Amino acid sequence: MTAPRLTHVFIDNFPDQLEPGTLYISIPYTTAAHLCCCGCGHEVVTPLSPTDWQLTFDGQSVSLHPSIGNWSLACQSHYWIRTNTVHWAPRWSPERIATNRTHRTTTPEPTPAPSNPPTTLKDRLAQLLHRRSRK
Ligand SMILES: [Zn+2]
Repeated sequence: MTAPRLTHVFIDNFPDQLEPGTLYISIPYTTAAHLCCCGCGHEVVTPLSPTDWQLTFDGQSVSLHPSIGNWSLACQSHYWIRTNTVHWAPRWSPERIATNRTHRTTTPEPTPAPSNPPTTLKDRLAQLLHRRSRK
């Protein structure tokens, strides 16, 4: 397990390549993105909204709520980001993940990788914005 601490950066547009240990926050996109804190290198895109994740910026560090459960990644890592620090959460059983997916009461799921994944983060963001605009 790596990256116990993250550095946050506020940006308008996401870079093509995310740096490990960095939490990118884009206000124009109302989206945050980082590389999975387990070190597997997968991009984790967390939309910010009342029903997705809420970002807290205390002037020095950021926290994301609720926890980040990367159920759709091979690593299935699960952690909290609080005041730029990664707190590892217990892995969930497949049953609990399935329950959460059904009820959506606790932890939302990061934008899952589509079966035909777009190649770049920008494509994924475009897809995300497109989905939102249809709501
Ligand atoms: Zn991972």
